[in-house]
Amino acid sequence: MEPKLRVVLATPRGFCAGVARAVEIVERALERYRPPVYVYHEIVHNRHVIESLRAKGAIFVERIEEIPPLSVTVFSAHGVTRQVEEKAQALGLTTIDATCPLVHKVHNQGRHYAARGRSIVYIGESDHQEVKGTIGQIDAPIHLVETIADVIALRLPADAPLAYITQTTLSVDDTRAIIGALTKRFTDIVGPDTDDICYAAQNRQSAVREMARIVDLILVVGGRNSHNSNRLVAVARESGRRAYLIADCNEIDQAWFENVKVVGLTAGASAPEVLVQNVIAALSCHAEIEVAEMAGLTETMTFRLPAAVSP
Ligand code: SF4
Repeated sequence: MEPKLRVVLATPRGFCAGVARAVEIVERALERYRPPVYVYHEIVHNRHVIESLRAKGAIFVERIEEIPPLSVTVFSAHGVTRQVEEKAQALGLTTIDATCPLVHKVHNQGRHYAARGRSIVYIGESDHQEVKGTIGQIDAPIHLVETIADVIALRLPADAPLAYITQTTLSVDDTRAIIGALTKRFTDIVGPDTDDICYAAQNRQSAVREMARIVDLILVVGGRNSHNSNRLVAVARESGRRAYLIADCNEIDQAWFENVKVVGLTAGASAPEVLVQNVIAALSCHAEIEVAEMAGLTETMTFRLPAAVSP
């Protein structure tokens, strides 16, 4: 056995309320309507979650046209475009919307600003499913910006009536500099309260920053395609700690633990707690471990289920 290893667990970590709700919607749909239940796009960005739902009879598709007419179909937590909703209707699908209510809130913000004659600047990543869905829900031209360079490159008059909205998986910290650049460059720009930005990314990033002060190494459990999990790794590194993203316990490399006395462990908003517990079990095979939960925020947010699957 190696010398004793202290494992510190971040609080909060793992599933956010929107992901927990989306997974529950698919599970309940499988029970209520019987398999197969089609799911448009990966319900959340985590392979383990997808595989376990697939084993229960969920079929994941990336094109709505792949779904046989009249099937039961769940829309993923990231949201879908109006075009996808219309195609689903034309196919006679029974649709259950697992779009996170906080993503719907961004759709509504965008529509609200557009209806008041403002052009929309959307802070988000062009290849993210949520961004594609949101752009397809707002009937107005949308200027997508990912960086401050994108803000500088915007071809809009300085006094153009604008409003910004943000991708939910970005934290307040992620968006601060871009919002600052927008308000500096444009004189008539409005945006939602920062309180409106999803709580989950900010809380998980703040917990990692706190944790970085007391650990030698940080492991983030999450999918490679999970934006918020990758951001947690980046935040840990910005805080001066070595950090690695692992999909599960099989990706742990023992070489990482040389001279490490305290390891911090967290998980992205789409990673289930069982994967964190598996990592703890794997670490205990190589060293005597002592596990401690860091003090942190207790999240109490929950979202109501859609009527089609509610009890
Ligand atoms: S990260 Fe926030 S917006 Fe995204 S699913 Fe979770 S609660 Fe909803």
